[in-house]
Amino acid sequence: MSVIVRFAPSPTGRLHVGNVRTALLNHLFVREQGGEFILRIDDTDLERSTEEYENGIREDLSWLGLEWDSSFSQSRKFDAYDAAASKLREMGLLYACYETAEELDKQRKLQRVAGKPPIYNRASLELSDDQKEEYRREGRLPHWRFKLSGGIVTWNDLVRGEQSIDTSSLSDPVLIRGDGSYLYTLPSVVDDIDAKITHVIRGEDHVTNSGAQIEIFRALSDHLPEFAHTPLLVGKDGKGLSKRLGSLSIAQLREDGLEPMAICSLLGKIGTSDPVEIRDNMQVLASEFSFDKVSRAPARFDEDELAMLNAKLLNNMPYERVKERLDDLGVQGGEDFWKLIRANINKFGETAGWSVMAFAPMAGQIEPEDAEFCALAADALSDELDADSWGKWTSYLKETTGRKGKSLFMPLRMALTGRARGPEMDKMLLILGAEKTKARLRGQTG
Ligand code: GLU
Repeated sequence: MSVIVRFAPSPTGRLHVGNVRTALLNHLFVREQGGEFILRIDDTDLERSTEEYENGIREDLSWLGLEWDSSFSQSRKFDAYDAAASKLREMGLLYACYETAEELDKQRKLQRVAGKPPIYNRASLELSDDQKEEYRREGRLPHWRFKLSGGIVTWNDLVRGEQSIDTSSLSDPVLIRGDGSYLYTLPSVVDDIDAKITHVIRGEDHVTNSGAQIEIFRALSDHLPEFAHTPLLVGKDGKGLSKRLGSLSIAQLREDGLEPMAICSLLGKIGTSDPVEIRDNMQVLASEFSFDKVSRAPARFDEDELAMLNAKLLNNMPYERVKERLDDLGVQGGEDFWKLIRANINKFGETAGWSVMAFAPMAGQIEPEDAEFCALAADALSDELDADSWGKWTSYLKETTGRKGKSLFMPLRMALTGRARGPEMDKMLLILGAEKTKARLRGQTG
């Protein structure tokens, strides 16, 4: 049996690291196992869902390299949900309820005062046809609840192991609101059955839902997927990320200059038994993925770790993988220049600054006390440069001036690059060339 998984975001906001981790784990699992990855747009909430967010989801997933094999929107499938609802009604498993929100609220308060759990009391199940008719005449629109069995639902969760949910401890879930709109619970099951989803991989905030949804699966079909509920993300302080999700949206991280594989490496490794390390492609990440490695403890998302992985990724990035992006940024110098600067960047955008430094005219930065030394260095530099030039040149300068260490090298670096830290100077010298180097050492623009 080939694996079929789905990622099911609601287009009511931009994707953030929390829901992208779910998408990624689905993607890694299906890539590792072979099978199909479906993108399901959960847009049954027609008021809050927007096309703009839907497009944003597709854009973010594509950018991250989490391509899907097929995709559909729930808003196109209301007929299927209506058919499933009718079937449940016929089976006596979907019943009309007439309580208003205020009445339900009051009921829960009374239960709490009496020390009882706030579970729906199923009063509407007892209504006679006349009473229902009376409510309808009053203009009350029924909402519809699924009748749970009251038994124990069990499954072997791929992350959490044996799970059991006592459905007698739950309220019968509302599947259809008074205005006829569907909550997420039923459409999700109908779609998982239709698409023959083999594994439902989602956050552990859905564990309780799974108890009710498994009963709905059983009522509607003999198809039941396996479940994997992954722990939620927390920040490095151990606190939930909910308040910071805006700044942790994929759009924002992209804007901040982070690379897709840095984000995917971090999200694919945190909360697993593997060390958090950079992987430069999805195949490797997928080949290393297994649910056995996913811990039940929350996964810590640390932005500093993300920044570090990002730098590591770039520091070793082969030229072929960035050639186009360098061209787009107008970075000159080709492969030699990339290899020279990549160890000195934390974000790709920094390449532009190095390119300007190396190829645009710039005046050398020279402290007054170093002016004489730099002028002498300019005179001493040969016009023909090769790989040994830097070594020979600086040895000569050391001998003739008595300068060594920082006082020898720093004035040269500052004059040539304008920065106290940066790439290896022997190679930088070759990139700059003799003419530019001499001009900058003389404090001129070169
Ligand atoms: N739209 C649901 C959510 O974002 C999907 C949950 C699921 O994967 O079943 O929470």
